[in-house]
Amino acid sequence: MQTLRKKSLEQLAKAPKMNPNNRVHSSQYAEHVFNLTQLQKFISEKAFDQMQQSIDKGSQMSSSLADQIASAMKAWAKSKGATHYTHWFQPLTGATAEKHESFFDLDIEGNQIEKFDGDQLVQQIPNTSSFPSGGIRNTFEARGYTAWDPTSPAFLFENTLCIPTIFVSYTGEALDYKTPLLKSLQKLNEAALEICHFFDKSTSKVNATLGWEQEYFLIDRSLALSRPDLLLTGRTLLGHAPSKGQELNDHYFGSIPMRVSVFLKELEVECHLLGIPIKTRHNEVAPSQYEVAAVFENANLAVDHNTLLMELMNKIAVKNHFMVLFHEKPFDKINGSGKHTNWSLNTNTGVNLLSPGKTPMSNLQFLSFFINTIAAILKHEELLRAATVSASNDLRIGQNEAPSAMLSIFIGKHLMQVLEDLENVTKGKLSPEEKTDLKLNVIGKIPEILLDNTDRNRTSPIAFTGNKFEFRTVGSKANCAKITTVLNAVVSEQLLDFKRSIDELIESKNMKKDDAIFNVLRETITSVKKVLTESNGNIEEGKAIKKNQKSTPFKNTPEALPAFIKKSSVVLFESLEILSSRELSARYQVDLEAYVSTLQIESRTLGDMARNHVIPTAIRYQNLLIENIRGLKEIYGEKFKVHAGEQLLILEQIAAHISEINEGVTKMINARKAANSTEDYLQKAVQYAQTVLPYLESIRYHCDKLELTVDDTLWPLAKYRELLFVR
Ligand code: ADP
Ligand code: MG
Repeated sequence: MQTLRKKSLEQLAKAPKMNPNNRVHSSQYAEHVFNLTQLQKFISEKAFDQMQQSIDKGSQMSSSLADQIASAMKAWAKSKGATHYTHWFQPLTGATAEKHESFFDLDIEGNQIEKFDGDQLVQQIPNTSSFPSGGIRNTFEARGYTAWDPTSPAFLFENTLCIPTIFVSYTGEALDYKTPLLKSLQKLNEAALEICHFFDKSTSKVNATLGWEQEYFLIDRSLALSRPDLLLTGRTLLGHAPSKGQELNDHYFGSIPMRVSVFLKELEVECHLLGIPIKTRHNEVAPSQYEVAAVFENANLAVDHNTLLMELMNKIAVKNHFMVLFHEKPFDKINGSGKHTNWSLNTNTGVNLLSPGKTPMSNLQFLSFFINTIAAILKHEELLRAATVSASNDLRIGQNEAPSAMLSIFIGKHLMQVLEDLENVTKGKLSPEEKTDLKLNVIGKIPEILLDNTDRNRTSPIAFTGNKFEFRTVGSKANCAKITTVLNAVVSEQLLDFKRSIDELIESKNMKKDDAIFNVLRETITSVKKVLTESNGNIEEGKAIKKNQKSTPFKNTPEALPAFIKKSSVVLFESLEILSSRELSARYQVDLEAYVSTLQIESRTLGDMARNHVIPTAIRYQNLLIENIRGLKEIYGEKFKVHAGEQLLILEQIAAHISEINEGVTKMINARKAANSTEDYLQKAVQYAQTVLPYLESIRYHCDKLELTVDDTLWPLAKYRELLFVR
């Protein structure tokens, strides 16, 4: 009998090697996007202005305007061959969702008509009862609806016009990632403008910008399909580490294998047609691991583009006979994947608020945003962590690989010095000399310092990288809207506090504006200094991390998630009107349920593989050994043990592993049953973490030992060396 593993290896050997250069065809950037430039061609100048105003202000569009835009959109899409349209949204499953409707319809007399006007553009009511809602939307009134997000342009995917939308319950509660993201961006704009106006009254809009770096593994599809674990869970639950792993670091930035190049070329063409600005691509640390990064954009668009990218990658991978693994830790003992999210603030006047400017005043503005962002992160550390945990990311964070689990913000020693100098300013009103000195010798030096900021730190979970903050704990599979929403919210709250404190000093202490700013900055620095010193101290990176890990132990998902519903989080989100406490609880529950389901599926899959793949294969090999021993006995009689001693030993070792595996699976099933009988979501998740998860390790241990022992030709599952090194 031939195993799937054997068949795929044979196929691979015979597969023709494609030439990456054959596939390149030129494309116009964003040719498949109905952006403002396109819209302008189709509607009147007046309507276009109205649309822009409504986008800027976030105000409702009139139905006649929506009709005009819908008709323009349809004309454009049909001219490009579209036959269907869909509202495209991001429910809490983590995937994207769509329900295609044909443009085709029938009128009352049964004649064919085409129907797509403002009503269809603005709202759609799909039957969405199966999406997670954390109990907000009962299944019997499954009326969630989707509503158009005009800030993200519609696009053409294959022959479908996709309209980015939010997804809310009939009672108006958010059921997706985009709704709170959009609200948080609006709040951040308002809060940041308050601070900008201390420095420059002409600023009228602040956007959060986001640049993601997406890591992933690319594996031969047939080999991957020989593994039920990769198929069902996206990671390997079994598999002994290969003799060669990533020790030689020969994959990192190495030359890209030809088959992968073909995939990447196609991906680049498709991305560019869809206006996804991907720019860099390279091999990552682990074998068969890669990264693709995009040029930063407004956060809302960047989030849409990242989710669309993942969808595209899955499709293009199938065409090229690959499987993309977005899982954070698909291979044991091999580096996992993250999605570094780079975040900053940009104004309508083209200023990056996290980048120093040319004048002391603009540098003071930079410092205000810089220090307040740090203060916000530290204040809501637990919430930020809760926004990145998941069953799969737990396997990566807090393990022996970057980023480390403890909170540290790396800003480099030069910026640390600036903060220390600022902390030493006089309390109260500053003398003119002191101000001049500060402006010239401290604030004035910032641009120079940053130009020469050669300090690099690769392990800190959050780093300031010259003109943006980089978050490295976000999982490769995650929707980056989640961390961005939290970040926008915490920074908004902090900026509003900052503004209030400054106003108070100006009003009650009769201080001048810049004196007040220096004073509040000084206090803010003092409040964040301890953590910054630990993260940026002179101690070597490794030591600093060890020391901190003790004080802030890694929290797994069930331990970290309750931060979503603690008082400071509820106050934060409610006061900013981003999420109500009911919505927060719902999200918390959805995340806990996802955690439990993931572990449940992994545990079932491992049980199946152990009993249906591993044990039968081990028994087959045992039978071979028994036959051999019997033969030796026939030839050598009583002296057979001289020649069969090792075989007997192997036989016993196999028997011992088989019994550990089988008993382990029984115990794991019982642990699952016990956990499933728990009603409370948190309790259930905790129980899964404590009583089911350990079996995934212990059963695997014995299966992996058998993989090393059993005849290779019998082993049915593609091995790590094949998955990771055969290209
Ligand atoms: P590294 O691998 O060193 O982290 P890359 O250059 O690969 O750096 O990625 C940096 C990411 O940061 C890119 O996605 C880039 O577009 C993004 N980025 C640069 N400037 C900003 C900004 N102002 N706001 C948000 N993201 C930014
Ligand atoms: Mg990076």
